[in-house]
Amino acid sequence: MGMVGFYAGSFDPFTNGHLAIVKKSAKCFDKVVIGIGYNADKQERIDKNEMKSAIEKAIAEENLNNVEVVLYTGLTVDKAKECNTDILIRGLRNGTDYEYEENISEVNEKIAGMDTCYFRAGTLGYLSSSIVMELFNNNKPIDEFVPKAVAELLYSIK
Ligand code: ADP
Repeated sequence: MGMVGFYAGSFDPFTNGHLAIVKKSAKCFDKVVIGIGYNADKQERIDKNEMKSAIEKAIAEENLNNVEVVLYTGLTVDKAKECNTDILIRGLRNGTDYEYEENISEVNEKIAGMDTCYFRAGTLGYLSSSIVMELFNNNKPIDEFVPKAVAELLYSIK
């Protein structure tokens, strides 16, 4: 069945930075599962089911045929196991991301034997979901920062 990688995140919203990580990982893994993690006690900024559809559109537009999207709640390692993988994918923008990610990765290895594969953000490392929302909430265009389907979703809820 080949090598599967599980790319977990809040993706609230999914940005071009996230898409770049998906593209890189789709080249390295036979299959990539994007896991939109949500918390029942914490409302997401954008409806998670609508975000899932927008991400599906974005990956179809890029012809990423080995990528799928799932929603999950609870521990990332549990969902990753359910998706038949023991490799998590994360993106690194800078040293702060690295330090944050390393703690989580270490715990995931300890509790579940799950390893983490990091991909570099490179030139899109300045982008974050919160920056996109800050611009959007202040009526600035966000088209250059998110995939077309995500921009359409955002403008549709405005
Ligand atoms: P979380 O809430 O789990 O940190 P995010 O949706 O913010 O979820 O990010 C998911 C993953 O994508 C994280 O590994 C994060 O470092 C990475 N990421 C976020 N923005 C970018 C970007 N611009 N370029 C590359 N990776 C990114």
